[in-house]
Amino acid sequence: MPYRDFPNGMTSPRTRQRLVEQLRAKGIDNEKVLSVMGQVPRHFFVDEALARRAYDDDALPIGHSQTISQPYIVALMTSELIRDNQTRKVLEIGTGSGYQTAILSQLFDQVFTVERIASLYKSAISRLIKLNVGNVRFLHGDGYRGWPEHQPYDGIIVTAAPAEVPYALLEQLAPGGKMLIPVGDKEQNLYVIRNTGDGFTQRLIEPVRFVPLIPSRQ
Ligand code: SAH
Repeated sequence: MPYRDFPNGMTSPRTRQRLVEQLRAKGIDNEKVLSVMGQVPRHFFVDEALARRAYDDDALPIGHSQTISQPYIVALMTSELIRDNQTRKVLEIGTGSGYQTAILSQLFDQVFTVERIASLYKSAISRLIKLNVGNVRFLHGDGYRGWPEHQPYDGIIVTAAPAEVPYALLEQLAPGGKMLIPVGDKEQNLYVIRNTGDGFTQRLIEPVRFVPLIPSRQ
């Protein structure tokens, strides 16, 4: 793994291991995902003042009214995304801090990620450069449109909630591919949508809470 380690007390590899054990206790059983989450330094993706809380299983603020997703949700969505699926290309909508992006970079050959807020887009790029991650491409744009130039994707993961599944994203999903997406206004449900090759199937995973996916005016 290309990550630098930060062996300082509350942010040490041992602290990360405790988070992994919490995820396991909550039912996450994909060893690849658990191993990657044990290695990616989540404290690196939040403000220094919050670093001590980076390995609690909670969402945390990252500015601009946005949050870094709860580790359990990252683990749940990622496990579902890679189960019985190809892991060549993945599209992430909502780069945010770049934490989920870093997790995906260790599990997929190529990661494409879209963020609408310029300053989050820029800081995620610099974090991943510092962590030596080389297989990610970033777009500052509107995730409702996906990133058509690089389609089709084996996986699409949406980390903010639209009221309905954006049609452009369905179009960019490879046959056999899967999309993980929270859908809904005030109450949201996490769905896995599969492109069977001649249609789509949809399965409810569980109720969730995400920030809204906001259309950009560009
Ligand atoms: N995966 C991120 C989650 C960030 S929260 C992390 O773990 O840090 C969701 C992100 O989606 C926010 O950064 C928000 O700015 C972004 N977002 C909201 N609407 C968007 C849109 N239409 N296109 C792209 N990104 C969007």
